[in-house]
Amino acid sequence: MNKPLILVVEDDSAVRNLITTTLETHNYRFRTAITGEAAIMEIVSYNPDVILLDLGLPDMDGIEIIQKVRSWSKTPIIVISARSEDTDKIESLDAGADDYLTKPFSVEELLARLRVTFRRLNDIGVMDVQSPIFKNGDLMIDYAACCVYMEGKELHLTPMEYKLLCLLAKNVGKVLTHTYIMKEIWGSAWDNEVASLRVFMATLRKKIEANPSSPKYIQTHIGIGYRMLKL
Ligand code: CA
Repeated sequence: MNKPLILVVEDDSAVRNLITTTLETHNYRFRTAITGEAAIMEIVSYNPDVILLDLGLPDMDGIEIIQKVRSWSKTPIIVISARSEDTDKIESLDAGADDYLTKPFSVEELLARLRVTFRRLNDIGVMDVQSPIFKNGDLMIDYAACCVYMEGKELHLTPMEYKLLCLLAKNVGKVLTHTYIMKEIWGSAWDNEVASLRVFMATLRKKIEANPSSPKYIQTHIGIGYRMLKL
């Protein structure tokens, strides 16, 4: 990918300047929009590679923008929201956002999120071939044989753990909300299932992580969900 184009949608000029200065310094191409309407126009006209989207815009709800964009485009969306807006983050991830940044964030955090997103984009290009083998660090999943290996050694997962691992693997780099995971795995999302999900996650981690209390593969987003990191 040569010089990706990033669309920065943010009405707060201080935050916008921080972002654009960072992008400029790191040699990214970018465009900006201060309203939801302008953002949609930009996305339609310039087809950016990544969208950084502030949820609180003057004319439109950020979630509405995500839903609109998702009706025709898979362009990665990184949501920018204030710390107090956890439910907004969950709603945006469920609407199809890929990741989030919490204000105030550091330049390093912003760059790290962008790197993750670009790595994912590259992987999606590669994975379009529909490889039956998934590899990430020392983890390998053979989808055809339903087998999981860690450092070449086969792991024995329960069907539920296997389902959970595959779901995270197929969305590697993306934060999946509790609701999304539960709907995918159980077909429903009740509050008491979050507890069950935690139990399955704990047993899965014991099998795949060398140190389950400081996991390398599956990251916890407290109150939000989980993400498999791309190693
Ligand atoms: Ca705002």
